[in-house]
Amino acid sequence: MRPVVSATPALLASVAVGRPVRGEFTYLVPEALAGNLAPGQRVLVPFGRGMALGFYLGPANAPVEGGVRLKPIQRVLEDSPSLPKDLIALLRFTAEHYRYPLGEVIRGALPPGLSTAVDEKEAKPDIQFFVEALVTEVPPQLARAPAQAAVLQYLLAVGGRAPLDEVTHAIPGARETLKKLATRKFVKWVEVTLQAGVREGLVQNRPDRLTPEQAVAVKELQGAVDAGGFQPYLLHGVTGSGKTEVYLRAVEHTLARGLGSLVLVPEIALTPQLVGRFRSRFGGDVAVLHSGLKDRERLFHWQALRKGTVKIAVGVRSAVFAPVEHLGLIVVDEEHDPSFKQDEKLRYQARDLAVVRGKQASAVVVLGSATPSLETLQNTRSGRYKIVELKNRVDDRPMPTINLVDLRVERPREGQVTEEAPILSPQMLQAMEETVAKGQQVILFLNRRGHSTILLCEVCGLSLKCHDCDVCMTHHRSQNRVVCHYCGVAFPVPDRCRECTGPLLKLGIGTERVEAEVLERMPHARVARLDRDSATSAEKLTELLASFARRELDVLVGTQMVAKGHDFPGVTLVCVVMADTSLAIPDFRAAERTFHLLTQVAGRAGRGKDPGRVLVQTYNPDAEPVKRMLAHDFDGFSKQELEWRKALAYPPFARMAAVRLEGEHPEQTAGVARFLGNLVGRHMPPASAGVRLLGPALAPIARIRGKTRWQLLLKAPTHAALAPLLARLEAALADVPNGVKVVIDVDPGAML
Ligand code: ADP
Ligand code: ZN
Repeated sequence: MRPVVSATPALLASVAVGRPVRGEFTYLVPEALAGNLAPGQRVLVPFGRGMALGFYLGPANAPVEGGVRLKPIQRVLEDSPSLPKDLIALLRFTAEHYRYPLGEVIRGALPPGLSTAVDEKEAKPDIQFFVEALVTEVPPQLARAPAQAAVLQYLLAVGGRAPLDEVTHAIPGARETLKKLATRKFVKWVEVTLQAGVREGLVQNRPDRLTPEQAVAVKELQGAVDAGGFQPYLLHGVTGSGKTEVYLRAVEHTLARGLGSLVLVPEIALTPQLVGRFRSRFGGDVAVLHSGLKDRERLFHWQALRKGTVKIAVGVRSAVFAPVEHLGLIVVDEEHDPSFKQDEKLRYQARDLAVVRGKQASAVVVLGSATPSLETLQNTRSGRYKIVELKNRVDDRPMPTINLVDLRVERPREGQVTEEAPILSPQMLQAMEETVAKGQQVILFLNRRGHSTILLCEVCGLSLKCHDCDVCMTHHRSQNRVVCHYCGVAFPVPDRCRECTGPLLKLGIGTERVEAEVLERMPHARVARLDRDSATSAEKLTELLASFARRELDVLVGTQMVAKGHDFPGVTLVCVVMADTSLAIPDFRAAERTFHLLTQVAGRAGRGKDPGRVLVQTYNPDAEPVKRMLAHDFDGFSKQELEWRKALAYPPFARMAAVRLEGEHPEQTAGVARFLGNLVGRHMPPASAGVRLLGPALAPIARIRGKTRWQLLLKAPTHAALAPLLARLEAALADVPNGVKVVIDVDPGAML
């Protein structure tokens, strides 16, 4: 039997439906729409028993077999497509690679206003009205119009120009009066478009000249943009080498050629300076995309980029889907940063997708970092990416000197019984004193929040754990509570052990504890703390960073938030309170992450005219990441780490996928884990394909929020070798009981 539908193939449409369903669907193109559909247009389609939002992706190739009655597209929701062509290709790749329903991928990429089945509306920018006097005194014609005279009088009194809201607030009814004044040409209305979102950081001027290394890098990148076509680069520049200026010049050049640029950054709130630099260089040509945007702003930016009126997008990982037109250049700043991986729902790696998008759009891609990921580094070694290096800091400023403090020897010992002994060694305190005395600034880094991280019973040795999670509770002294960092549950600090009523020791050091110690030892210093407990909103965070930049603070204590790309010229001393915290995490990237964090935080020292120094306290002076960081030896570290990864077949020499399970009932969850394990076992390709299954096993953190966690890890030489197994797994998920949640995490970031 041939299909009942007799339409020609050209009249069939492939549509992604904005529902959690796999694949693309075929619809009929009604006569009236024939020839008028453009890929990327949002449409309304019948689906199930009702209507659904759909995305027209292109003509469908062949009519489906088996007499399925095709339904027609109901109508089109917009005149011009919301999705540019190269983006459709990227979204298709994303759904396929990360095993996520295409319609949901597309809906997630779109701003509110386009992600539901409603007609497109133009978003208005943030506009503020000002009124401006066109005369310098109240003219005699107004003698018989006292209301108009009064309003004009007010306006002149406040300097001839004021926000409309202010005037109408001061003089009720002024709006109507002002309209009359405007018709008589005594005042005019002025529209001011407000820049949305994050407040600006330090405004920076365009430097007159580039460093020789910058000049080489800029020339190379500009040449690649001119040549056109896909070309990925690693821009490996030491901290303070001026990578941002290289990006700016490359973007400037791309803009001059009429092409669009996309710039991805780890976290906008943490890098207001970078945004400030783009804003001050390109003004209204930049759309800044971050999670703090209001719905309307998001839609406004999307439409502006889509129309090509704005050609540069700067944003966090989700901006990899921004509809920049005629893409010529993609930049990923701090490409090693873990925040480019999304760890929920659609688990994508934005840096990887940036390269894919660059390929699809024939654009130049620049991945920049002082500490490139081993994945990216390996791509330069294999010749897939070109490499451009900045080996020196701007103005030939020296790299900071780094010294080690061995905590096994140097840690102050005091006769404390209930609390951890002090953590700041005499050397560190002395260096801090000297620095502050010179009017310079200090950063203290420790990647753990709270006051004490373990409450341990002195009698039975049990530590206080969360009821619902397999982790220790952290003591937050400022809140006088113990908190679980995984589920957020908090309760008053217990006096005694739950089990045996023995006294509790407060061990393990967090940033709160370090801050208290600094305040105690240096009462004259102005100290603040930067972590997720102190920076509870983007505003607070920006204010804290700005206040440190204005030098209203001497010492900033913080978690990895202080290690990001900040450029504070006043900082000449960086102290790593304990380098060991991230070393012991059960993750094959633990050493790499530690090395990155230490190198990045050290890189905050000595970026101004005064040279910087770094002190690293550690219990593991012989640990590879610590040793190499002390020697500024990125090459040595990565060479060794790559050898190790190769020997154990870990990325970048293998591709991985994690299957994560979470269930209410331990037995049931274990059962599903075994079922999936068997499934993989049955469909395992021959050993020569090199695919390996690790597990099923309990996850390193075996319980969170009362749910039991299991995982399976798959490794293979290529993603292609993995894909068929992932497809099997995905298909099997339909049979998994409701009590167990299973997710497939392709190219996983963290192993916990
Ligand atoms: P990186 O991101 O490589 O750590 P930045 O881009 O933050 O470094 O640059 C470090 C500092 O040097 C910034 O304050 C920047 O304004 C300044 N800078 C960059 N290029 C130049 C230049 N060519 N001349 C003078 N100053 C520069
Ligand atoms: Zn918990």
